[in-house]
Amino acid sequence: MAKKKYLVIDVALCHDCNNCFIACKDEHVMNSWLPYIDEQPRHGHRWMNIERTERGQYPRVSANFLPKPCQHCAEPKCKEAFDESVTVREDGIVLIDAEKAKGNKELLDSCPYDAIWYNEEKGVPQKCTFCAHILDGQAGASICSTRCAHSCPTEAITYHDLDEAEFEKLKAAEGLERYKPEESPDGLVWYKNLYRFTKHFIAGGFLKDGECAEGVKVTLKGVDVPEQTTNYFGDFWFDGLAPGAYTIVADGQDIMDVTLTESVNVGNIAL
Ligand code: SF4
Ligand code: SF4
Repeated sequence: MAKKKYLVIDVALCHDCNNCFIACKDEHVMNSWLPYIDEQPRHGHRWMNIERTERGQYPRVSANFLPKPCQHCAEPKCKEAFDESVTVREDGIVLIDAEKAKGNKELLDSCPYDAIWYNEEKGVPQKCTFCAHILDGQAGASICSTRCAHSCPTEAITYHDLDEAEFEKLKAAEGLERYKPEESPDGLVWYKNLYRFTKHFIAGGFLKDGECAEGVKVTLKGVDVPEQTTNYFGDFWFDGLAPGAYTIVADGQDIMDVTLTESVNVGNIAL
């Protein structure tokens, strides 16, 4: 069975250090890897673009980062729009043809992930190539990985070369998801702990006689989540929630109704 190349990006491990972004620049600025891709301009392009979100309210806040290259979609909308200019290789890598796409700024609008950038100097749309020149052994490099995965100090980005059965096993074991699956449910870039970027939490704390109430059993009505026990600070934190109506239940008693539209710190509640 033919293998495909994958990037797995763990949102929980990304600390926004930008090493991946810089490694991408190092690989492509002032380096032409034609026919894969021409050189990247020094400024303006973010082929590895780290998106940021902050959830909750002080002091129960969670800052999260989503490294976002081209998602190397299995059925790319960029190709749907400009078939001649875009190729999907057998290993799943999506490449823009520098000659056929020359001058085509509209290609940028075809990507629902905003992953294509226009190189004014060269007159060509460009994006992440999955470091195909390295993986094909064309760059004389001593690594067999993408530069972003190779440079990540926390292993938030990992590179995998897997057949379909191996990937399905990994996907199930790690709970991998596509970002914005409504745009492209399949491809080469997959996320772990994506809920930290796309879902919400309800967090708070309990007090008893003015002291932090450790050991309170807390659950939520409105969703099937495991019961939690408040920590040393009396805190609880339910994450990965969709917008909706929930009730906080402590030691079997309904405590508070929450209509969740964004992550919320409900504060300290006296029992
Ligand atoms: S190198 Fe790793 S930790 Fe740093 S920003 Fe990129 S993905 Fe995040
Ligand atoms: S993320 Fe955008 S540029 Fe990349 S393959 Fe999908 S549609 Fe094309």
